[in-house]
Amino acid sequence: MTFLVTEKCIRCKYTDCVEVCPVDCFYEGPNMLVINPDECIDCGLCEPECPVNAIYAEDDLPEKYKNFLLLNEKLAKKWPNINRCKSPPDNAEQWKEVEDKLQYLEK
Ligand code: SF4
Ligand code: SF4
Repeated sequence: MTFLVTEKCIRCKYTDCVEVCPVDCFYEGPNMLVINPDECIDCGLCEPECPVNAIYAEDDLPEKYKNFLLLNEKLAKKWPNINRCKSPPDNAEQWKEVEDKLQYLEK
């Protein structure tokens, strides 16, 4: 099993999650992070750190986010690794509660 980042992260990208990951398996895109499912050791430490609850265990992934398994896999191969917390985008607060953000994903 693995943990996965879902669309709630898009345009929020608080990066609190990366500081706790013991195996540095987060990857950073222009406006979202993903987890590399091949590297995640399923420790669960990152899930409670996310201020917008964007991280789910694969087995708990809501139906509407099922496509994020493939997206995490694919984008983790393309994006650079991130293992240090950094400042979120200026308008992150404004995007916190917004639904259906997949349309804003920048790859
Ligand atoms: S803490 Fe949540 S919002 Fe922030 S980068 Fe990680 S998954 Fe995205
Ligand atoms: S579950 Fe653990 S290993 Fe997997 S991404 Fe989160 S902190 Fe990293």
